Amino acid sequence: MTEEMLLLARGLLNTLHKNTERYDMPKIEAAYTLAYRAHEGQKRQSGEPYISHPIAVAESVAGLGLDTDTVCAALLHDTVEDCEGITVSMISERFGADVAAIVEGVTKIVTVAVENREEAQIENIRKMMLAISKDIRVIIVKLCDRLHNMRTLGGKKNSDRQREIALETMYVYAPLAHRLGMQRIKLELENLALLYLDPIGYREVMEAVDRRFGTSRELLASAKGRIEERITAYGISYEVEDRIKSVYSLYRKIYEQGKPFEEIYDFYALRVIVDTVEECYTVLGLVHEMFTSVPGRFKDYISMPKPNMYQSLHTTVMSRDGIPFEVQIRTHEMHETAEFGIAAHWRYKTGEAPDERVDKQLAWIASLIEADEDTRDPDEYIHSFKKTLFREEIFVFTPKGDVISLPQGATVIDFAYTIHTAVGNRMVGAKINGVIVPIDRVPQTGDVVEILTRNNQGPSRDWLNIVTTSEARGKIRQWFKREKRPENIVFGRDMMEKELRRLGHAFTASETEKIFEATAERVGIGSLDDLFDTVGYGGISLSRIAVRLKEESTRFLKMQQASETPAVSADEAALASLQEKSKNRAQKKQNGGVVVDGAEGCLVKFARCCAPLPGDAIIGFVTRGFGVSVHKRDCPNAVAGVSDPGQADRWLGAHWETKESGASSTMYEASLSILTEDKIGVLAEVSVALAEMKIPVLTINVAPPKDSRATIHITVGCKDTEHCHAIVSRLKAIPTVLNITRN
Ligand code: MN
Repeated sequence: MTEEMLLLARGLLNTLHKNTERYDMPKIEAAYTLAYRAHEGQKRQSGEPYISHPIAVAESVAGLGLDTDTVCAALLHDTVEDCEGITVSMISERFGADVAAIVEGVTKIVTVAVENREEAQIENIRKMMLAISKDIRVIIVKLCDRLHNMRTLGGKKNSDRQREIALETMYVYAPLAHRLGMQRIKLELENLALLYLDPIGYREVMEAVDRRFGTSRELLASAKGRIEERITAYGISYEVEDRIKSVYSLYRKIYEQGKPFEEIYDFYALRVIVDTVEECYTVLGLVHEMFTSVPGRFKDYISMPKPNMYQSLHTTVMSRDGIPFEVQIRTHEMHETAEFGIAAHWRYKTGEAPDERVDKQLAWIASLIEADEDTRDPDEYIHSFKKTLFREEIFVFTPKGDVISLPQGATVIDFAYTIHTAVGNRMVGAKINGVIVPIDRVPQTGDVVEILTRNNQGPSRDWLNIVTTSEARGKIRQWFKREKRPENIVFGRDMMEKELRRLGHAFTASETEKIFEATAERVGIGSLDDLFDTVGYGGISLSRIAVRLKEESTRFLKMQQASETPAVSADEAALASLQEKSKNRAQKKQNGGVVVDGAEGCLVKFARCCAPLPGDAIIGFVTRGFGVSVHKRDCPNAVAGVSDPGQADRWLGAHWETKESGASSTMYEASLSILTEDKIGVLAEVSVALAEMKIPVLTINVAPPKDSRATIHITVGCKDTEHCHAIVSRLKAIPTVLNITRN
């Protein structure tokens, strides 16, 4: 190797040298040499030599503890695609079939644009899942590849492309990392993606963290010290680390769940790592002896591991000063799994026999591929793919006491299919904790669920609308597809005819037939019977077919129009316009009463920095993926943003919708800073005044007094600027209140 080659790869070599006996250094050097030559002369957009990228990916892979073959594959991962004269078979000859297969798998994972809902997308995700299911090391290399691309995303010149990549990272790669338990990578991917998707939100959260942590830092440090002392006195050897919740998780809690910062209990967490499971419970006892625990926040993931293999004890306690913090207790081995997930399997191991945990992960991926084989509906496929990735688990028991994990929101039918396909197909009813329940009941963690069955029973078609897991839906469809073709055809035709009638035009039998045929062609199904069958067993959803039917019938009518006048009655026209109106009304709910020019129907949230109210001049910022965040026009963030050429195009004009007749019940949040004299009882007077006006108080904070002046920060529910003025003048009437500003 030349001096320059050594210099470029020094970080990678350092990582490998920590563990030389594991690595076949000559093989890795050969892979590096090949990659170096292949990428010679190529540059990244940042101007760096291209080889720096595969080196960085290989370093991450080695940092996760993966084997020689994976490190080689990481070094070579872009050669087949980007370099002339290098083929998979050539890599196979020189480095073996495994390295070649990983490189090929990584190359095949094409970009999956989640926003772009086209049929082709299914194929993309399927290909990706298939590549992963053959060798899970493929996705580990791909995740490290994405991680480095995200770390260097600032070097990309095109900001639209930056956001596309960030969006894909947020919706596909971070959830995949999560599902594989690779927490460290997941958190970094999410935070980096958020930085590009909503830079202002990112900064707001960082500032909130600084403010909150700034005031409680010492108190938390002293609590940590006391816990350490206590464990030491007990004679247990341990390690302690502390962490602040990731920017993205805080962002989600604040903006998506609307939680005030003060109510986020696991904002700060202390992690105690010990040697044995027994010591975990001992430490838990010690912690609970020293501090009051917050009810309902204790979780035992040691006896009930998460599906991604995560294990730990979690509890939230109150420090003596009333600041809640989380304590996580786990063994070293659990810690490895928590941080590195599936990759932990390869750490410090030289053998390659995959253990059962790896098999379990592969089984999960295989089930995702199988369950969706029968659906021709891309929307549903994407939906179930996302759902499977993002799922939160609950744990229920069989009557025999076995623990079954289900995604949150799963019904007793989903439970039945999780036990066994045959149990689901024969199900006639269910009991929860001994009591018979309706078939759409959603069990909770800790429930004992029993399925009542009868032979020769089959599932009901309604179940397709009740179940929430793609596994159950796939199995029900399978059953209908296999057992009931004649019935499916009758049923499917009936559903489609009803749908067509609903469109408000009476077609003759032969016209109907023509429209159905055109629809079949549109969805790529050859014969009408096959189409009815597919609709009948649920392989294509009614809503999707409805859209196609509408398009095809409109087209049909247009063709007729040349010779006839349209036959829509006045009543039907009135009905259609009514439906349109009620649709609009439903939309108004989610836009918070704001119209953003050029982004109608988009999800709207209100920026925390300025909390706009109806009556304020406003402007919208397109966050891509998180809707539009609405600021006051004079908000410093908005003023700075509009004049920043890098993001000026993401600011859109916005205005409040004119009020409908009748009082609007929508409440907005107004945040006020009240400057008062530092006297006892001021806060009480303010609270009483607000209560008299029936104003809901959402948060309240008192800053430490300075120069005999105190500042109270409150967030209150408020209808509009006028209402806000009324509140302010009422509060100003309190003699000890000196001044009030709206933030
Ligand atoms: Mn790459």
